[in-house]
Amino acid sequence: MDIIDRLKKTEELTWYNPNYTEFNRVRDELPISLDEVKEAEDRLKRFAPYIKKVFPEVADDGIIESPINTIDKMKARMEKDFNQEIYGRLILKRDDLLPIAGSIKARGGIYEVLKHAETLAMENGLLKAHDDYSILASDDFRDFFSNYTVQVGSTGNLGLSIGIMSAKIGFKVIVHMSQDAKEWKKNLLRSKGVQVIEYTSDYSKAVEEGRRLSNEDPKSYFIDDENSKDLFLGYAVGGMRVKKQLEDMGIIVDEEHPLFVYLPCGVGGGPGGVTYGLKLVYGDNVKCFFAEPTRSPAMLLGLVTGLHDKISVEDIGLDNKTDADGLAVGRPSSFVGKIMDKILTGAFTIEDSRLYDFLKALYQEEKIFLEPSALAGFLGPVLTSEKYKDRNIIHMCWATGGSLVPEEIANSLIKR
Ligand SMILES: *Cc1c(COP(=O)(O)O)cnc(C)c1O
Repeated sequence: MDIIDRLKKTEELTWYNPNYTEFNRVRDELPISLDEVKEAEDRLKRFAPYIKKVFPEVADDGIIESPINTIDKMKARMEKDFNQEIYGRLILKRDDLLPIAGSIKARGGIYEVLKHAETLAMENGLLKAHDDYSILASDDFRDFFSNYTVQVGSTGNLGLSIGIMSAKIGFKVIVHMSQDAKEWKKNLLRSKGVQVIEYTSDYSKAVEEGRRLSNEDPKSYFIDDENSKDLFLGYAVGGMRVKKQLEDMGIIVDEEHPLFVYLPCGVGGGPGGVTYGLKLVYGDNVKCFFAEPTRSPAMLLGLVTGLHDKISVEDIGLDNKTDADGLAVGRPSSFVGKIMDKILTGAFTIEDSRLYDFLKALYQEEKIFLEPSALAGFLGPVLTSEKYKDRNIIHMCWATGGSLVPEEIANSLIKR
């Protein structure tokens, strides 16, 4: 297979999905329904009074959300750097600014921790759905939750979001960090009272160990990035909310004005959930693309072979080494690829050196700093503009993280 040879050679490549099918013809076959996403959205609304109370940095409505910016200067810069017109407009979804966790993980990760806390409190007769959830901030509830442990395996950002949220609720938390995890992320977690266990192996191993240790303890709950439907639902809510945000900006997405979205992809839950949420509101008028490092194309490999989590990038001789720590995943989620099989429009791979070029350019043009992983999508508008030359297109890059990066590290990344 030609594409696998090219992946083996760590070539940058663009792939258009031959299995793409009209959304109306596939939506009923998919294992996650619109109702489940709406239920997740309602749950986040129930928690809003609590979130507002314990995280003053969250907006007044207690809803964890990020803005969308127009980035015309960056668009002009990319057109110049690549000597390629980008047809249509370019906007940026600022999940780097999501409060609490500073990354897209503030969607799925926080959602799953909250759902787990709600389930425990309800099962023990301490909480009802119509209560004002700000009561969860009381010492009584914190004492109750301190009997339980939450564990997670992570390359960094998922650990941050689960760790910070769980510690706030009162859970004991253990985060199993793979070798890619940055030192400052571990230190930040320790400062919040989170136990960090470090591994010299990659992400899959950290997840496996975390899962095993958690399963030994009946009071421990494992947040399983490779299999979690709840993480996916938290991300999907974010996708659905885009519609209202774009409408407020005067942007209507329809057949004549399609939305192209570029999402950095690791294990697949984040970009997969967002894609699913976007499809629910926009159907075929949204086209979603995943971006992966050339040395960690886990999702793309799973999709083109149809093997999903039954194949890893190591199996084709790649080393899964990338500076994009959020994307340093060798084996994709067990179920996201199967959902993406007919709804993803395409995917592409990007070299690490380009992430730094985009990082610097975005900072110079727009004064926006993103962490390396979050820039992977920027190649997308350049690539699709070779094929789609329609000036009505709205290109949206999904900035997945960056605001928690310490200033001196951010400065050294910009100067690199
Ligand atoms: C986790 C992460 C992603 C990808 O999400 P997955 O669910 O792992 O696919 C992208 N960017 C950043 C910054 C992340 O932390």
